[in-house]
Amino acid sequence: MAYIEFKSVVKRFGDNTVLDHIDLDIEKGDLVTLLGPSGCGKSTLLRCLSGLEQVTEGSIILDGQDVTGLPASKRNIGMVFQQYSLFPNMSVEQNIAFGLKMQKKPKEEIETQVRRAIELVELEGKEKQYPANLSGGQQQRVALARSIVTQPKVLLLDEPLSAIDAKLRKALQSRIREIHRELGLTTVFVTHDQDEAMIMSDVIELFHDGRIEQSGSPVSVYTAPVSTFAASFIGSYNQIDGAVFGRLIGEDFGDSCTVAIRPETITMTRRRPENPDCYILRGSVQDSTPRGNVLRYTVLVEDTIFHVDALFRSFHMFDMGETLYLSIPRHDCLCITDKEGVKHAC
Ligand code: ADP
Ligand code: MG
Repeated sequence: MAYIEFKSVVKRFGDNTVLDHIDLDIEKGDLVTLLGPSGCGKSTLLRCLSGLEQVTEGSIILDGQDVTGLPASKRNIGMVFQQYSLFPNMSVEQNIAFGLKMQKKPKEEIETQVRRAIELVELEGKEKQYPANLSGGQQQRVALARSIVTQPKVLLLDEPLSAIDAKLRKALQSRIREIHRELGLTTVFVTHDQDEAMIMSDVIELFHDGRIEQSGSPVSVYTAPVSTFAASFIGSYNQIDGAVFGRLIGEDFGDSCTVAIRPETITMTRRRPENPDCYILRGSVQDSTPRGNVLRYTVLVEDTIFHVDALFRSFHMFDMGETLYLSIPRHDCLCITDKEGVKHAC
């Protein structure tokens, strides 16, 4: 039995079905990410688990106990939101100690636990400061410390890093990952950012319109999308109509599928290569954009656009308008068929 089980959970607001029969198992100690575009129901699922929202149908089991009807205060779940929700009139240590004080823990225990939580989030020296004097990243670390100090069964993080600038965000992603490992705390993390989901997760649950479209390890979700939605949300796949692709390569590729190809699997060369394991296409460079350590090229093959990622090495740059050859490994061409809700790659 999984540590957390959602059994056919439905949540409606009026006639708006926000969660549509969600079945989801979460294993103890895993960091599971709910990934999906804005409005697809991620926060609602988290709120149903925490007890801030009641489900319309179905049930939620936590550690063997049916918690569906339990109030939030009885579920022993820690939660951090996107907005920093600290008590402004309390210092860092008072904010962190709050939950333990409510539980009427002995003073010495509170002091020990608060000190340990402060160390975990690396806020030593800031104990007496007030939230108004802290940066966004520091406030979020206080919120994190406050939610783990009570040793909850589950930690829920709802886009906790969305309002934090890029560099600090990376540091906090690692810190959350390390804290998760150190405490072995079952954690459900929500984000709409695929890179963040790839970095953070043991398991990714990809949401689409109130349903789980795909679940699996980051690598499996990245390399084997089960639908065109998954392929467009994760991995920025080229998606080309099967009939069009078949015409370009001069082979039948099936009319009813979409061919999905990751930009980094395609190689560009000036001379026509000989490689029976690849489809070779001739095209011309339309554009290139730097994206960190790769250059993303836009290449036109007849009337079809391909995006190709190449490592950003100056000796391998291609000019606008230049004619070149694309080598696409056959085994990297996924054929995806979306059928009335049942979606599979073939
Ligand atoms: P996400 O977190 O994936 O962005 P949400 O779970 O916040 O999505 O919202 C999913 C849908 O549910 C949205 O259409 C939103 O408007 C609706 N919704 C969320 N909470 C409420 C509420 N309390 N009352 C009515 N509609 C809501
Ligand atoms: Mg949300």
